[in-house]
Amino acid sequence: MTKVIGIDLGTTNSCASVMEGGKPTVIANAEGLRTTPSVVAFTKNKDQLVGQIAKRQAVMNPENTFGSVKRFIGRRTEEVETESKEVPYNVESVGSKVKIKSTWMGKSFSPEEISANVLRKLADDASKYLGETVTQAVVTVPAYFNDSQRQATKDAGKIAGLEILRIINEPTAAALAYGLDKKDAEKILIFDLGGGTFDVSILEVGDGVFEVISTCGDAHLGGDNFDKVLVDHMAETFKKEEGVDLRKDAQALQRLTEAAEKAKIELSSATQSEVNLPFITATADGPKHLTMTVTRGKFEELATNLIDRCKQLIQQAMKDAKASKSDLNEVVMVGGSSRIPAVLELVKVATGQEPNQTVNPDEVVSIGAAIQGGVLSGEVKDILLLDVTPLSLGVETMGSVVNVMVPRNTTIPTHKTEIYSTAMDGQTTVEIHILQGERQMVSDNKSLGTFRLDGIPAAPRGVPQVEVAFDIDANGILSVTAKDKGSGKEQSVTISGASTLSDNEVKQMVMDAETNADSDQRKRKAIDTKNQAESLIYQAEKQLVELENKVTPESKTKVELVLTELKETLQTDNTQQIEERLEGVKTALMEMGETLYSRQGETPQSEEANDENDDVIDAEFVESPK
Ligand code: AMP
Repeated sequence: MTKVIGIDLGTTNSCASVMEGGKPTVIANAEGLRTTPSVVAFTKNKDQLVGQIAKRQAVMNPENTFGSVKRFIGRRTEEVETESKEVPYNVESVGSKVKIKSTWMGKSFSPEEISANVLRKLADDASKYLGETVTQAVVTVPAYFNDSQRQATKDAGKIAGLEILRIINEPTAAALAYGLDKKDAEKILIFDLGGGTFDVSILEVGDGVFEVISTCGDAHLGGDNFDKVLVDHMAETFKKEEGVDLRKDAQALQRLTEAAEKAKIELSSATQSEVNLPFITATADGPKHLTMTVTRGKFEELATNLIDRCKQLIQQAMKDAKASKSDLNEVVMVGGSSRIPAVLELVKVATGQEPNQTVNPDEVVSIGAAIQGGVLSGEVKDILLLDVTPLSLGVETMGSVVNVMVPRNTTIPTHKTEIYSTAMDGQTTVEIHILQGERQMVSDNKSLGTFRLDGIPAAPRGVPQVEVAFDIDANGILSVTAKDKGSGKEQSVTISGASTLSDNEVKQMVMDAETNADSDQRKRKAIDTKNQAESLIYQAEKQLVELENKVTPESKTKVELVLTELKETLQTDNTQQIEERLEGVKTALMEMGETLYSRQGETPQSEEANDENDDVIDAEFVESPK
């Protein structure tokens, strides 16, 4: 069996590891470094540079040097508009896809192509190190990456000539690396603050089983944001003194960004840092230099909002996992930015634990990926990896409400089926509308796609049985199948790239769901009640016809009267009255049923008034538009 390497494809830095003699080992790159900047550049001569060498020439060639590309992978232009303004190179939109323009090459590249170059370098360097060609890898992604972002990451592998055997979440990988030697059941919190992404996950680890119990994060929070607050501070100060905004000049901005990162890193071990940028710009008065002292106190003040965002997400993850501070056995720090003292302090306060920094925060994710690679190649045994879905998945049912099939935080891979039926007599088509999110109403969730199942034999409403199956594989990729049990006809769809959900959207959706829980519940109840009423009217009218001559005229008139009243109220939004009248119709129907039997002097054999399919019908589809 050939070696399966583990790759942490990071926003800022990437790292590759492999299992050697049963132990994970970080692979040094061709330059002898254990991590490789995720930076790709093109030169005037159309040469392609990857890693440290690309990063080093960024100052002179900002328009052809691409970093932080992970922020764009698998995402649509509208979603990244604000961020694209923050990066110093040209991001353009081709269709709804993000493309990155290189002036030297005279063409645009997709984020997948740029990432493929980074993957290719890591695989080539690993091949040299191992003395054999590497063709297979396990690659990590942030837990909050949606389907489209995972697919795009896989595509990047394909472009690089690498088969990505498995995509795993970064915090899960960290837990794998951390939990390797653990025996007892433990609840651990993984705090992963890298260059461009932030993840918090709570996992249960023990006996070789890793289960993610909650995960949340923000794909736009990381070291880059901390650099940016320093850049803004330095640029504003310079502008006040010299009247020039350095952020408007690509080269100056690049130098400023590098200086900010350097100062930030220094401030993790020192209490102040000197920034010195000679000849940063020139005015009519001649060349200008930027010299400044930044203290740790000032940096922490500038970063207050960023620290607060981290805090909120830690609290959210703990709430989702129903874990209090005392439930946590361990807090593990991952990602270069977890070294910032204010971040360490925050984690300590928010979790009540002394953060564990025994694992190298830059390498731990890649080590975990290598262990998973070892599991897949058979080198590592007795480890079972369980992951979870970050948001609920469901289908649209009658009244534009969502029926959840796979709740948020369900362990994957998973397979769920439910039986649905039609909403109209003679309906031969159903439209399956797949949604992701935490809200009750369709319009408040993210639409992942729709497909149609035709050829259902015409039958009264509620009779056809359409089995809808949701399958989520180990990579978190969703397939949906609908099958008419009567005719055996089947349709399915794999959700990929059709629609992407940004991480901010995910976060927003979870927050909105909490804020709107009460009003959503009311809306849902209103719709459910209306649906029930419509269904009952349908049954009652059917019975009135069927039992025409078998029941007393008085009981029939009573049913007709309450039915008319119910239909009237149905035109209003008075849910309470609809409910009351619904009960009224049920009672009248029951009374009518009783007269039927008392007339015939028989004992009831079946409960005609009940929903005839209530053992299978969970919800009903809206008739699909023609
Ligand atoms: P990663 O994506 O995990 O490699 O993290 C990279 C980020 O960590 C970059 O934003 C770095 O500037 C940041 N970083 C690395 N070392 C330190 C440090 N000692 N203090 C603060 N930030 C750091």
